[in-house]
Amino acid sequence: MNFADLGLSDELLRAVGEAGYSEPTPIQRQSIPSVLMGKDLIGIAQTGTGKTAAFVLPMIDILGEGRSRARMPRSLILEPTRELAAQVAENFDKYGKYHKLSMALLIGGVSMGDQMAALEKGVDVLIATPGRLMDLFGRGKILLTGCAMLVIDEADRMLDMGFIPDIEDICTKLPKNRQTLLFSATMPPPIKKLADKFLTSPKSVEVARPATTNAQIEQRIVEVSSRAKRETLVELLRAEDVTNAIVFSNRKTTVRDLATSLKRSGFASGQIHGDMEQAERIKELDRFKSGEVTILVASDVAARGLDIKGVSHVFNYDVPWHPDDYVHRIGRTGRAGATGKAFTLATPDDAEAVASIEKLTGGAIQRAGKAEPKKAAPRAARDDADVAAEKPRRGRRTRTEAATPTPEAEAPVAAAAKEEAPKPRRARKAPAAAATAEVVQTPQPAPAPRPAAAPDDADSGWNGPVPSFLDFRISAD
Ligand code: ADP
Ligand code: MG
Repeated sequence: MNFADLGLSDELLRAVGEAGYSEPTPIQRQSIPSVLMGKDLIGIAQTGTGKTAAFVLPMIDILGEGRSRARMPRSLILEPTRELAAQVAENFDKYGKYHKLSMALLIGGVSMGDQMAALEKGVDVLIATPGRLMDLFGRGKILLTGCAMLVIDEADRMLDMGFIPDIEDICTKLPKNRQTLLFSATMPPPIKKLADKFLTSPKSVEVARPATTNAQIEQRIVEVSSRAKRETLVELLRAEDVTNAIVFSNRKTTVRDLATSLKRSGFASGQIHGDMEQAERIKELDRFKSGEVTILVASDVAARGLDIKGVSHVFNYDVPWHPDDYVHRIGRTGRAGATGKAFTLATPDDAEAVASIEKLTGGAIQRAGKAEPKKAAPRAARDDADVAAEKPRRGRRTRTEAATPTPEAEAPVAAAAKEEAPKPRRARKAPAAAATAEVVQTPQPAPAPRPAAAPDDADSGWNGPVPSFLDFRISAD
């Protein structure tokens, strides 16, 4: 299924194409047609499944129809943190480049002056954190009565951060006959209650968690001291019969350092991380697919949405913070009929993370022989100090952490400003409404969880996009 089948306008399809996305993710596929039809929607899918575009894309086409009025935003998107709010704003910039939509960001830590000026003029899209919005509302600076669309994004994090009462408050200030969309990774009872109260016969879209691992993947945990990680990785890369491998790290700085260091050790290594534009990532991926690069060092966020599968090995240089990420990562190996191998370097500090992975995947993962450090070279020691220093506290998705994403954790930062120079805007063509009517039946029921032993890599547990080069096989075959 293509983006073109979802009822989106040509301008939008062009912007999406230029962003480098070839296929909608499952949550996008199932949400977009309903949103275009004006329905309320509850979208449940884990982090990284593309929920942002699931609402941003249809919103752009819907809002493309009308005009903004002074002090009355036409739509409101609530985000739990300013980083997430900024990311959503970037998405509007990127996909809305052929639409003339105005936008304001209302987040803490930014001077109010510009935000107010934008609001005075009137905006099509207001992206806000609940606290700042309530603040401005209290001062009578904003009217939500013209707000016909509301998005409550990352609802479970809103709950963690204690924003639910604010959200309830905000909901009562919006017109009753609005369209409301709610997105969340999970659906705990308070969120369910919120949805019952403020959404009108919503369509529910749920994408199954990839909680199973492929039996075709041989998994090993390599217990190692944090000083010896790099050396151990190099030893493994040399000892194993590696055709091509992805090495995952939790931080983009580590991705960069590691790729450079592997190159110095003689490996054909490349890298993808969150500071790279999507186009750059795709280019690097092409080098990997062509075999020019055989070891790709990657961060979770960067690898997400890229179709990389069927590699001979996956190495987790860092134990992922979230067990779902483990399943995603190792799902990149295990080709049809062949066994893939996944090695995870775990330090004593990672015990807790390893335990939650084993809990999710339903069994102890075999330990490989302990790789003892020979002697840590000064350089390695320095690098490790570096790694240790930037290590965020574990459990970043828990209550205490949610409010304070570490700067190095991969929350893509506001890169909107350095986007390409504005291209001439095209006059809008036929609105999407007509096309929309024909896609009514597109959405499918939520897929059943996958069987534990998936026979081939098409079933690797990755529930992100699986675009055109689905049949990617290693050329050495
Ligand atoms: P979520 O809100 O579900 O956590 P995001 O919307 O932030 O996820 O998207 C996660 C990543 O996937 C982003 O880097 C985004 O650019 C990428 N992505 C989203 N949709 C697609 C798609 N259709 N094809 C490829 N990549 C995508
Ligand atoms: Mg999101």
